[in-house]
Amino acid sequence: MNNLDPEVARDPDHLVVYGGRGKAARSWAAFDTIVGALRSLADDETLLVQSGKAVGVFATHRDAPRVLIVNAMVVPKWATDEIFWELEARGLTMYGQMTAGSWIYIGTQGILQGTFETLAALARAEFGADDLAGRWFLSSGLGEMGGAQPLATTMLGGVAFIVDVDPRAIRRRLEGKYLDVQATDLDDALARVRRATEERRALSVGLLGNAADVFPEIGRRNIVPDIVSDQTAAHDLMVGYIPQGHTVEQAARARAHDPAAYRHEVQTSIAVEARAILALQEAGAKAFDYGNNFRTQAREAGVAKAFDIPGYVPRYIRPMFAVGSGPFRWVALSGDSADIARIDRLVLEEFVGDGHLARWIRLASERVKFQGLPARICYMGYGDRERFGHRVNDLVGSGELTAPIAIGRDHHDTGSVASPYRETEAMRDGSDAIADWPILNALLNVASGATWVSVHHGGGTGIGNSIHAGLVIVADGTEEADRRIGRTLHNDPGLGVARHADAGYPASLELARRAKFRIPGP
Ligand code: NAD
Repeated sequence: MNNLDPEVARDPDHLVVYGGRGKAARSWAAFDTIVGALRSLADDETLLVQSGKAVGVFATHRDAPRVLIVNAMVVPKWATDEIFWELEARGLTMYGQMTAGSWIYIGTQGILQGTFETLAALARAEFGADDLAGRWFLSSGLGEMGGAQPLATTMLGGVAFIVDVDPRAIRRRLEGKYLDVQATDLDDALARVRRATEERRALSVGLLGNAADVFPEIGRRNIVPDIVSDQTAAHDLMVGYIPQGHTVEQAARARAHDPAAYRHEVQTSIAVEARAILALQEAGAKAFDYGNNFRTQAREAGVAKAFDIPGYVPRYIRPMFAVGSGPFRWVALSGDSADIARIDRLVLEEFVGDGHLARWIRLASERVKFQGLPARICYMGYGDRERFGHRVNDLVGSGELTAPIAIGRDHHDTGSVASPYRETEAMRDGSDAIADWPILNALLNVASGATWVSVHHGGGTGIGNSIHAGLVIVADGTEEADRRIGRTLHNDPGLGVARHADAGYPASLELARRAKFRIPGP
């Protein structure tokens, strides 16, 4: 219900939560049946959900998950967009994205934190710094996900310069305080960026324009940003990227008039922008692809070197995944934001030495507006998640928190996803497409006693491109929950460490030697 709250979901009437057509239930009738089954479910029963539809309640035991969910799985040879969406139109399946169909989406806080974490990791890896003070980031796209870029940059003390072709996107981000100012033209934007960077002052500047015009012009002026990326919805050529010379409205008319010609124009513009990014990279900017398939589109448009732009996971996120760290989240089932504020304080007390985590928690508590049930997200790793879970369960048990807390995570995590264009791109041992790991992850979380466990296909990078698993565990303050929390929140990130150790990452091998789980040797 929280996933489909109008404050949370993008299009609740059609059960769409986020990420294209990522849904929480197959139909409203299926939603009602799921809710009815959950209301009457006993503590030793398990509800099975097949692509957004309740299909059975079975006798299990108290430590077993209450719900098992599988979304969008099809036999590999049938895993094409064409076949999948035809099956979906016939009402046989549902696209669950990652957290939509597994009921743990919490709104835009997730992407804000992900972008914050990516940029923080970039600062560490590229500049040996804890923040982005004195650095500027050139990018495009102020949409649903891209709109997080300016705020994540200023939260890290840096300067963001974001180009968007749609005046509504800029206005919306100004109103929501995700963006500080709109520049009148390129000269004005560059002057503001230069001043703020020199003064090491955090600032975000939006400019109305087309990235394929603006990026090459910046290059022509021999101006080089510290960081460059693109966050248009380039994964979808027909609607996600506006070609040069068009407003959004003109693009819609051109698209309807002659789709093939329109597609060609889009590809031409993407190629122009990609060449500009490569030139800025050559001149010293740190370039990265942020999961929108920009490189694939550019390569298909004739830019042979498009994959010289590194993906963000191998370069910045993998070192965290390798030690079992990833996006972790918790939701206050009381609906009372004071419960989240209490847990914010707990994190600050419990993880005193972690300045980066403390910075995020402080900034998030000041700047993030809750959507639906109050929730918090942060990156947390192997060992810490388990410790955190026990402490939260204690606070529920003692009554300091007013109701149980649902603790979960994204499927975009350390040991739970196989996605060769994103999370498992360029694995050290070439195991990018090996999808045994997410299935083992789900099975392990079932055996450990998570409250609900899910396996999905196609989230993030689309049908045919990924298999991934999720879990949620409810801390209700009981001793039984405490035991389940200990097993689940240890084993789940532990498998991430084991997966990366198996691929040969030195930090994972080292951590595995000290871990509570064992990797059998000869
Ligand atoms: P969106 O459709 O909401 O926004 C795209 C924005 O780009 C729009 O505001 C549009 O006006 C602008 N735009 C389009 N063409 C442009 C051009 N030529 N120049 C300047 N601006 C232009 O999309 P979104 O939800 O923000 O997602 C962006 C991309 O990020 C998608 O491809 C999505 O799949 C990907 N994504 C990445 C992650 C991640 O973790 N890295 C997560 C989810 C989604």
